[in-house]
Amino acid sequence: MTGSGGLAIIAYMKNSHPRARKLLEAVRGALSHENRLCRLCGTEIYDGRSFCPDCYGKIEFNDGESCPVCGRKTSKSEICIECKAHLPVYSKAVSALVYGGVSAQLIILFKKSRPYLYRWLAEEMAKKLSALPQPDGIVFVPMTRKAERDRGYNQSGLLAGELSRLTGIPLMGGALEKYSETKAQKGLSREERITNLGHCFRADRSVKGKKILVVDDVTTTGATLNAVAECLKKAGAEEVYCVTAASVPYSTERRV
Ligand SMILES: [Zn+2]
Ligand SMILES: [Zn+2]
Repeated sequence: MTGSGGLAIIAYMKNSHPRARKLLEAVRGALSHENRLCRLCGTEIYDGRSFCPDCYGKIEFNDGESCPVCGRKTSKSEICIECKAHLPVYSKAVSALVYGGVSAQLIILFKKSRPYLYRWLAEEMAKKLSALPQPDGIVFVPMTRKAERDRGYNQSGLLAGELSRLTGIPLMGGALEKYSETKAQKGLSREERITNLGHCFRADRSVKGKKILVVDDVTTTGATLNAVAECLKKAGAEEVYCVTAASVPYSTERRV
């Protein structure tokens, strides 16, 4: 149904019976690009869902055993060795997906070329917030102005905005700033990595006395979240929690 014929039918149905109007809504949904194609493989789907059943079945949700502090998937539901050795500055982190396979593919697409995936990801992240105390405000891991200009969007900002809309928790957009690019972390010791990152962020006093929720796309070692949490605490934040779209399972990430 394309061209003037399709438009004419829509115009006709608009003024007709309620049941026809319902059908019109369904037709509109089917015609909209976002609702027509699986957001991963591009297969046509006409049920308004985000993914085809095949792709959806391959997405790994972080619903099994996980570390109660950093939120990464573990083999047992107990504090992971990394958190035991160096308790993070944030109180607790949760994540919606386990980073790997199709979930990783989804996050990479989101970061590189399909910003609209933020809606689905934020919905899944919102489900995880019941495991955290109610925060007073949401911040997101910022990019430097140049990096954001180059990419065209800050993926963590998109997630944070949608989470704020879904939960009603205020978005504190300008509270956190990244003022210098992170130098390569590779080859640095744990302490050096933390210092390296800690020098990149700045928080303003609006976070003082508040419980802050930090939003980011992926947790790998947790070093970024920790650096941001430290910066927020220094600016007076009472407590810091984190939520990410995905996290790397603990078992494959032992870089203490
Ligand atoms: Zn698919
Ligand atoms: Zn942990």
